[in-house]
Amino acid sequence: MSTAVWSAAVAMIYDVIIIGSGTMGIAAAAELARRDAMVLALDQFSVPNPFGEHHGGARMFRSSYYEHPDYVPLLKSAFAGWKRLEGETGRSLFHVTGGLYLGPADGDLINGALRAGREHGLEIDLLDDVRARFPRFRPPDAFSALFETAAGVLRPEACIEAFAAVARDHGATIGTHERVTAVHPGDTEVAVDTDRARYRGRAAIITAGPWTQKLLSAIDCPAPLPPLTTTRQVIGWLRPEAAQAPAFSTDAGFPCWAVEDSPGSLHYGFPILPGDPDMRFARHFRGPACDPDAIAREADPEELRGPAEFSRSLFNDGPGMVLSRSGVCMYTNSTDSHFIIDRLPGSDNIILACGFSGHGFKFAPVMGEILADLALDGDTDHAIEFLSLARFA
Ligand SMILES: Cc1cc2nc3c(=O)[nH]c(=O)nc-3n(C[C@H](O)[C@H](O)[C@H](O)COP(=O)(O)OP(=O)(O)OC[C@H]3O[C@@H](n4cnc5c(N)ncnc54)[C@H](O)[C@@H]3O)c2cc1C
Repeated sequence: MSTAVWSAAVAMIYDVIIIGSGTMGIAAAAELARRDAMVLALDQFSVPNPFGEHHGGARMFRSSYYEHPDYVPLLKSAFAGWKRLEGETGRSLFHVTGGLYLGPADGDLINGALRAGREHGLEIDLLDDVRARFPRFRPPDAFSALFETAAGVLRPEACIEAFAAVARDHGATIGTHERVTAVHPGDTEVAVDTDRARYRGRAAIITAGPWTQKLLSAIDCPAPLPPLTTTRQVIGWLRPEAAQAPAFSTDAGFPCWAVEDSPGSLHYGFPILPGDPDMRFARHFRGPACDPDAIAREADPEELRGPAEFSRSLFNDGPGMVLSRSGVCMYTNSTDSHFIIDRLPGSDNIILACGFSGHGFKFAPVMGEILADLALDGDTDHAIEFLSLARFA
């Protein structure tokens, strides 16, 4: 960029500056740009990138939300939002495979999913005989089984690329490899400093994922915010024997699955997606606390031994499956594992979206809408009171 163009860029006032353009930030950028707002979306890395919370090739979309039924209306909007994004970009992002949930009949997963599904009229079925419907599975006999028809797999990196394409097509500026170092609240304007420049915006949205706590500690905020804990989460991929692999693919109708093995702990996995020989699995729980700038980014095979054994034990073909790859990702956890969507205390024009606690990806399109509503109109029609900071008061 020439010096003259650079100075003009720095002098202009954006409608909204987005701090962190991973999952939620880039979804907000796309939605704001669709609404003709002048948007600057900043990220310290590329968009997408393999350093925060959104890499690893697969994220589950499910609507019979055992975590809290109030998420279900948001998920209905999110489902429509993913389909819209596919339509706008002509890209395949969301494979609707169905979701198979297994666990004790009185556990959180089965009970909570049934409750949310029934309250909101979702298509869910209790299965009498899992093996008859899904012959590859051999779950423990004592487990109940629930099948949700409209669940499926999102491809996170492709989703973020699609949001970025929509944002750019509608005129947004996406600044990559530019780290935000300070945010200065003001009554009518927010100033955002990066390692390259100072920008001015009428509003700002903080969607910094695992780095949120660090960023907030550098902002003058009149009320203390509840702490966020960043945790290190390991993921792995299993490769079935070549002859068996087609049966585990999306084409063969193999579902996403989640199994509650103990209170607060789930194992989950995905079918083989087009173009990938392996299927991803992991354990959903709070891993060890970590510093996002100093995290060990290689998984030790020993860390994955337990989850890999658990996953193998679910399948007839499990003994022949090989642990082919591994990776490390992060969760940013709120104290109650529910999202935090609100204004920064003491500031009307800085919006905070954080604490997605390992289950936020599926919501990205509706979070984009909500954040755009809050930044441009100061309010939203989506029911998000249960996600506000007031719950911690
Ligand atoms: C292993 C794993 C599995 C998961 N599975 C699921 C699932 O199946 N279903 C589901 O719905 N969810 C799932 N999630 C959760 C979901 O991926 C996250 O909730 C979601 O990605 C969080 O989005 P985010 O925008 O908060 O963070 P991110 O996507 O990480 O975005 C934050 C961005 O902010 C940038 N940033 C931070 N600080 C700065 C700064 N100072 N300056 C500039 N840029 C900055 C970062 O570089 C990053 O790109 C999973 C997460 C993990 C780790």
